[in-house]
Amino acid sequence: AKEQGRCCFKFYSDSLNCRAIERLELEQELRKALENDEFELYYQPQIDVEKDQIVSVEALIRWHNPKHGLVSPAEFIPIAEETGLIIEIGEWVLKTACQQAKIWLDEGDNECRVSVNLSSVQFKRGSLVGYIKTVLEDTQLPANLLELELTESAIMTDVEENIVRLQQIKALGVGIAIDDFGTGYSSLSYLKKFPISTLKIDRSFITDIDTCSDAAAIVKAIIVLAETLNLAVIAEGVETKGQLKTLQSFNCSMIQGYLFSPPINAGDFESLLINDLHL
Ligand code: C2E
Ligand code: CA
Ligand code: CA
Ligand code: CA
Repeated sequence: AKEQGRCCFKFYSDSLNCRAIERLELEQELRKALENDEFELYYQPQIDVEKDQIVSVEALIRWHNPKHGLVSPAEFIPIAEETGLIIEIGEWVLKTACQQAKIWLDEGDNECRVSVNLSSVQFKRGSLVGYIKTVLEDTQLPANLLELELTESAIMTDVEENIVRLQQIKALGVGIAIDDFGTGYSSLSYLKKFPISTLKIDRSFITDIDTCSDAAAIVKAIIVLAETLNLAVIAEGVETKGQLKTLQSFNCSMIQGYLFSPPINAGDFESLLINDLHL
């Protein structure tokens, strides 16, 4: 089962019929959410533990629905994908994240890269690369300060086509991270062919790292793999000091998780950026 925030809307209804109606309702409300300005981006820091510094930040969408309160992206992103609304929503996310990153760049002393989640529906569109280029031009964010997060399954279907698209994105100077790495079915031979920059180790392995030797072995192997392929590696969902210590003993330098900070709003993140870090 997926974990949910306390205030998140969830389909608790027992009857299937009722659930279908609720879903339809959510879909209709999703259609109006953009024009009603109900979305917000939250930001979760990604920390380089060797430098003891925030070096990047993942943008995560939040939906404040007037009726249901805060709706989790795990709930509405799938609906947005099925209905095609993800295109418009995704464009809003990319533009907003880049605008924000440019503001932080102009204000701060340290460069902080922004990571944006990309749905496979967005990735498949022919117009994607042109759109990214336009957003970078409009916001004036240097391309190397943008990274896009894609899941293994998004990349592993239509591999040859995807390699071309990823190369076009790379040519812009934008980074590519594979999200939830280890849960999909990336073949290692393909991994070498993809022009990617970062592997994000899935939270499920980090959660079990100190209690399950298999999980620890997988994490260790992914870190070695990343080193071999000259990729950056980020451990997701780090919640305890013990997990952090284990990861450091494996030479994993980048972490993201509640141990340091949950996703927070732009104002709160800005304060984190400005203040010194104390892990
Ligand atoms: P994801 O990309 O794997 O994002 C990481 C999720 O793990 C986030 O949930 C984050 O809040 C949560 N998380 C981070 N650290 C910890 C931790 O230490 N412990 C635990 N238990 N959880 C942690 P969130 O924000 O609810 O997002 C869920 C998913 O929704 C994301 O998973 C992503 O797949 C999707 N999503 C979120 N924002 C966007 C977006 O702008 N566009 C698209 N296409 N998908 C998005
Ligand atoms: Ca992600
Ligand atoms: Ca992830
Ligand atoms: Ca995920």
